[in-house]
Amino acid sequence: MNTPVSPDDLRNRIEGVVQAYSQKNDIRPFWRTPLLATAVADDRFDVLPRIAAEDHALPRDLLDTARSVVVFFVPFIPEVAKENHPGENPSRSWGLAYEAANRLIGHVCEVLQRELEDRGYRAALTPATHNFDQEKLMARWSHKHLGYLAGLGRFGVNAQFITPVGCAGRMGSLVTDADLGDSPLVNAEELCLHKIGRKCLVCVDRCPVGAVSVSGIDRKGCWERLKENIARVDALAGLESSTHVCGKCQVLVPCSLKDPTGNSGCRS
Ligand code: SF4
Ligand code: SF4
Repeated sequence: MNTPVSPDDLRNRIEGVVQAYSQKNDIRPFWRTPLLATAVADDRFDVLPRIAAEDHALPRDLLDTARSVVVFFVPFIPEVAKENHPGENPSRSWGLAYEAANRLIGHVCEVLQRELEDRGYRAALTPATHNFDQEKLMARWSHKHLGYLAGLGRFGVNAQFITPVGCAGRMGSLVTDADLGDSPLVNAEELCLHKIGRKCLVCVDRCPVGAVSVSGIDRKGCWERLKENIARVDALAGLESSTHVCGKCQVLVPCSLKDPTGNSGCRS
């Protein structure tokens, strides 16, 4: 017999895990309170191969009995974003926060999987990053597109994912056969100032390689910069070779740490 579970049960669980993680691992507390949204794994997700990578997996590809998709966002603290602002190179703390967040997200996913399994459900996970096609530079499991469909946030001009607490942070997701229903945090169409016709485009000016424009992101230009950074930036010396970071279009812009439109109707 399965024990009932709700989106708020999972929210409470990950809040506790994120809060305890830095102390437990003796690292700087890089994070604010995480956000989580759920969605019924119905035919809305069939659009993924059209709006994301054409070989994007569907929830049922991960778990044949999938009934819900769970997507969460772990926002960085303002200090880490601020430290990444000066100059054209990423700060060491931004690289460390990226690495630590990827480990944290893996841990959160495992905790949620265990929690669901203990209640009698199945759950399937994917990695936090580098699950993408290196040629097309498109994720085969895009947390951002899943988050969009689940109502966790909306895309900005910079292709970053703007949640009710901003875009500076990292995402994770999983699928489960628990019936969690829809619990979106955002109902507004857009959370990007430019997309609602207000003045902004700060992110366009911020990109050191001109990869952000009103017509979208130059994925190749951005990816080349990320690879170059880990190879040549002194501040990133000794970090993992997969620490592909920049984040200049994510920090000290209007959507870094909040929904700049005030439209999200956030329940966080
Ligand atoms: S910086 Fe401005 S234009 Fe760019 S994504 Fe954020 S809100 Fe939109
Ligand atoms: S992450 Fe850096 S290189 Fe990529 S689009 Fe943003 S500012 Fe440009």
